[in-house]
Amino acid sequence: MAGLTIAVASGKGGAGKTTVATALAVSLGKGLSEIQFLDCDVEEPDAALFIKPEIEATTEITIDAPEVDRTACDGCGKCQEACEFNAIRVESGKAAVYEDLCLGCGCCKLACPEGAITEKKRRIGVVETGKREDIVFYRGLLDVGGGLTSAVIRHVKAMARGDIPTILDCGPGTSSPVIASLKGCDYCLLVTEPTPFGLSDIGLMLEVARTVGVPCGIVVNKCQPWSPTVDDFASVWDVPILMRIPFRREIAYQCSRGVTLPEADPFWDDTFWKLFDDIGKMVWKGR
Ligand code: SF4
Ligand code: SF4
Repeated sequence: MAGLTIAVASGKGGAGKTTVATALAVSLGKGLSEIQFLDCDVEEPDAALFIKPEIEATTEITIDAPEVDRTACDGCGKCQEACEFNAIRVESGKAAVYEDLCLGCGCCKLACPEGAITEKKRRIGVVETGKREDIVFYRGLLDVGGGLTSAVIRHVKAMARGDIPTILDCGPGTSSPVIASLKGCDYCLLVTEPTPFGLSDIGLMLEVARTVGVPCGIVVNKCQPWSPTVDDFASVWDVPILMRIPFRREIAYQCSRGVTLPEADPFWDDTFWKLFDDIGKMVWKGR
């Protein structure tokens, strides 16, 4: 299954997404010669607490941010018209850049007839790379106060290899960073708790994933015998339930110590390998 890329998402924080993603990676790492893990929850990356990789390199991520030469600017406003993000505006007869809104697309520079706009490198975050035994680890870190979350995620994915199985931990929510994470993935595991809030959020995630064209399956976390609503939900949405993780104090305790499920109990190795096999079969069947 070389190159199979599985995203793990939840639509909300605290559902157990990182618990599932890291457990899957650790189980697969024991049997495959190489696997890679991408932590794309770049605003709060915490997978390293479980995987515990040795970080070997840090790469700065920059964009080409515009800089206005106010002596050359005549206030014509063409840069403002060209910017789709309202990141450059003419004020008091001169153009001014709002860095927090700027994506560094370069359109304003192209639009300026006076050559008044040049570009400078602006750092938006870093990508850390490391290793733990057979798990190659990538982690995106958005700079504090920065807003270009999707750009950092795209860099993480661009730096990763395409020839080995990949587990990608998405951020919470259903906005553009999650879409940037999902694009190009073969499959999306949706982790949910069996509660109305959990199901509402993965309903939103299902709509997003289907729009992006990524097939999905559900992992029910903190599963209890008296919570059958997930089955009804899965039936209505025509999405398979691939795994159930019981609601147990011991699991919560091990997770709070940064111990992955298969490290806490080898029983989980077979369970996560079966999950990987099931996903692989669905993906190859769909191709
Ligand atoms: S680089 Fe792009 S986003 Fe930034 S100010 Fe110019 S046009 Fe707007
Ligand atoms: S396009 Fe150039 S000259 Fe015109 S307002 Fe913008 S920076 Fe100034």
